[in-house]
Amino acid sequence: MFVEPRIEKGWIEVICGSMFSGKTEELIRRINRAKIAHQKVVIFKPQIDVRYHERKVVSHNDTQIDSIPVAKSKDILDHIGNAEVVGIDEAQFFDMNLPEVCNLLAEKKVRVILAGLDMDFKGIPFGPMPLLLSMAEYVTKVHAICMQCGGVAGYTFKRIHNEQTVELGEKDLYEARCRTCFNEGMAVIRKQIKMDL
Ligand code: ZN
Repeated sequence: MFVEPRIEKGWIEVICGSMFSGKTEELIRRINRAKIAHQKVVIFKPQIDVRYHERKVVSHNDTQIDSIPVAKSKDILDHIGNAEVVGIDEAQFFDMNLPEVCNLLAEKKVRVILAGLDMDFKGIPFGPMPLLLSMAEYVTKVHAICMQCGGVAGYTFKRIHNEQTVELGEKDLYEARCRTCFNEGMAVIRKQIKMDL
């Protein structure tokens, strides 16, 4: 369990993992605890993520929290006001300016908490996540349970394959898988559709 450091300067935290690993629940847990301590909190999500609700961050088990949808990373800077804590969900869908924006916030003594998929459905590091993981003071990798074998899952397997990296979906489209089951699934798909994966 992540325990907040007792320092007053800004820093960056990243919560990463596959789908169904509890990233958003962990983000919401941290945000709620900051709110209980009367800290000023603002939460952002990319405008692309409108699966459940326009202005809320919602986890798979329906925990939710108010958020501001933004089109570009730099738009975050227009909405922070005097926030002490900034939460960013679905960080992988943001543009490559997000690391710079997070650095700016941390340098303004803001606690920045990001949650995002570390890898896409091909098992490749996702968008700005590798940079954010490198720059963060604190990284928490959460795991799902492999939907094939019950092992520890770090991969997101896409059951219906196409080349679209940004595709929002739920259990009908994606499965959490361990390395072995992910590779087995990908081998089947490569044979089926001869994709260059
Ligand atoms: Zn497995």
